[in-house]
Amino acid sequence: MTLIVVKFGGTSMGSPERIRHAAEKVIALHKQGHQVAVVVSAISGETDRLVNLTKAMADDPDPREYAAAITTGEQISTALLAIYLISRGYQARSFNAAQIKILTDANYKSARIQHIETEALTNCFNEKIIPVIAGFQGIDPTGSITALGRGGSDTTAVAIAAALKADECQIFTDVDGVYTCDPRIVPEAKRLARITFDEMLELASLGAKVLQKRSVEFAGKYKVKLRVLSSFAEGNGTLITFEDSSMEQPLVSGIAFNRSEAKLSIRGVPDIPGIAAKIIGPISDAAIDIDMIIQNGSADGTTDLTFTVNREDYLRAFDIVEQIALELKAKEVRGDQKIAKISLVGVGMRSHAGIASKMFDILGKEGIHIQLISTSEIKISVVIDEKYLELAVRALHSGFNLESLETEEFDPIIIPNI
Ligand code: ADP
Ligand code: ASP
Ligand code: MG
Repeated sequence: MTLIVVKFGGTSMGSPERIRHAAEKVIALHKQGHQVAVVVSAISGETDRLVNLTKAMADDPDPREYAAAITTGEQISTALLAIYLISRGYQARSFNAAQIKILTDANYKSARIQHIETEALTNCFNEKIIPVIAGFQGIDPTGSITALGRGGSDTTAVAIAAALKADECQIFTDVDGVYTCDPRIVPEAKRLARITFDEMLELASLGAKVLQKRSVEFAGKYKVKLRVLSSFAEGNGTLITFEDSSMEQPLVSGIAFNRSEAKLSIRGVPDIPGIAAKIIGPISDAAIDIDMIIQNGSADGTTDLTFTVNREDYLRAFDIVEQIALELKAKEVRGDQKIAKISLVGVGMRSHAGIASKMFDILGKEGIHIQLISTSEIKISVVIDEKYLELAVRALHSGFNLESLETEEFDPIIIPNI
């Protein structure tokens, strides 16, 4: 017997009609004799609404209570889906994270899953009951409710699939797979029939929100067979594969972008060993994550250091850097919140040079100035002025011919489309 975990995202739960449609997919699987565990998100827009309510109570809501409030949307979804399944004559049961025991650390807003008890779920399977589980929630060792970070229902689904050793984890969303770029920004973007785990991890880390990064990490760690599919259209979706294929890999498989960073520069500090640590150390001590760093030397014995942080940490980081600038007698501190990071991702880059220069050339021809660059084996990222984001992404997409990327259908889906 096959065990499948299916997850329905916010849009797939967006209205009573959509919830019924999602439930019919579950019924089709169940009727085929598969064991199905369902993970659901809150109705689209609900989590934002709850976040805003907490912010109406306090500018900086208490993290424990914030997590308790913003994860309630998922709980409503589980019951609604279960009500419909029961009304259709199937046995179903809703579960929140405490009822399953999805155990996490105590980092309330962005908790990590540490362990999942499978007993309640296997009991359901033995009794032919379809379990419907709240995504995005966990409980910490004291039983307090935690949130898994925005987009965290993906991670619940993959973690449940890992715990149950499921045959496949299917993420149903509003696009019919992973595309070469966000189709909302590049309408010509192409669906990838398959994508390697390494590429998916980079795309998710670099801003493609189709899967939460941690869900991809989980899939990698436990080798969960993971597929992204549309709730609304038929098709095989995109399969995330682990084996390096014998097929020739495209140089660039996808483009991700991210508008959630900000840039800080400290200028005219003495160019002496240890200076970078003096500046970056206090930022890390304040638990602010730094992404890119660049240090420029100059002729007069001083240097400039530029780095990027999450936009939500920008003001805090700016205050810290101003303090350091005073101590180091730096010339000035500058900041810019209106930046965007664009990244090309592809495992084919491992074996080919010249991608970076082609990227810079395409951006140069559009008159787009590159502010920062970082590279790794399978990605190149640049930071540019946010106002050129769409232009840059589209120019790169067509410059690398991604609209005509060949992707072979791979390992077709095991369930009937509805
Ligand atoms: P859900 O509510 O189902 O979890 P999300 O909004 O979190 O859905 O993720 C789906 C969205 O991800 C799509 O609507 C799309 O705009 C966006 N997206 C960003 N990058 C990509 C990509 N490379 N391929 C597909 N979708 C992408
Ligand atoms: N509802 C949560 C959010 O909007 C979790 C999710 O959708 O994955 O972030
Ligand atoms: Mg999502």
